[in-house]
Amino acid sequence: MFIHNLTVLDEEHICPDCKAKMSCCEAPPVHVGDGLGWGSEVLFICLNDDCPTFTSGWQKVEVNYGHKSTYRNMQLPGSTEQNVMMVASKVAFTGSIIDPESMREQNERYKKEKEAVAALKTCVQDKDLTPVMTLILDEAARTQGRKDAIGLLRELNDLSCIDPIRNHTFRNSEFEQACNLVISELLKDNFKKECPYCAELIKAQAQRCMHCKAEL
Ligand SMILES: [Zn+2]
Ligand SMILES: [Zn+2]
Repeated sequence: MFIHNLTVLDEEHICPDCKAKMSCCEAPPVHVGDGLGWGSEVLFICLNDDCPTFTSGWQKVEVNYGHKSTYRNMQLPGSTEQNVMMVASKVAFTGSIIDPESMREQNERYKKEKEAVAALKTCVQDKDLTPVMTLILDEAARTQGRKDAIGLLRELNDLSCIDPIRNHTFRNSEFEQACNLVISELLKDNFKKECPYCAELIKAQAQRCMHCKAEL
C-alpha cells in the first residue's frame, strides 16, 4: 500500500475510554455502494481487548442488531473526534496495523519507481541509464515498467549495465533471459565479449584476456 501523506504516521492518538495508544491501521477498502468510506488512507483504532468500548459492545450489538459483533474506538488522522467501528472478532484490524518504519521504506521505493517510469520517455535522448537500471533491478516494481526498461537497454548502448545485471538475482527468469539476450546483442554491437575466466569485457577478437591474461 502507499500513503500519500506520511505525516499521519507521526500522529499519536489516545483512546478516550481506556487511555491506550490507538494503533495506526490501513483503512478498509471502500466497496462500491459504500460511498466515500472514511475519506482517509489510515485510521487510528483502539485495539486494546480490555477497552470498555470493546468489552461492553458485544451485548449492545446483540441487543440492537441480534448478531455477534462489538465496537472499537476509532479516530481519523488530524482529529480527536470519537468514532466507532463495528468489528466481528478480536482480530479484526490486527492484520492491517501499519509499521511506520516499513511504510516509509515502501513509500520511498514506490516514489523511486514512479520517477524512473516517468524518466523512461527521455532516458535515451538524455543517455541516462539510471532509470532503466532502477526498474530492472527493483524486484518490487511493476512488470510493465521493467519490460519497458529492458526494451531500452540496446538503444541506450551503455555497457555499464552489464555488471549490475549479472550480479542481480532475478525472481522472474523471463526478465533474466530477456536481459541476457540484450547483453549478448550489446556485446556484438560493440565488438566485445566477456572473458569466460574473469568476466571482464574484452575485444571480441582477443586471443588473450588483457585483465586475467588467460588464453582464450
Ligand atoms: Zn480503548
Ligand atoms: Zn579474463
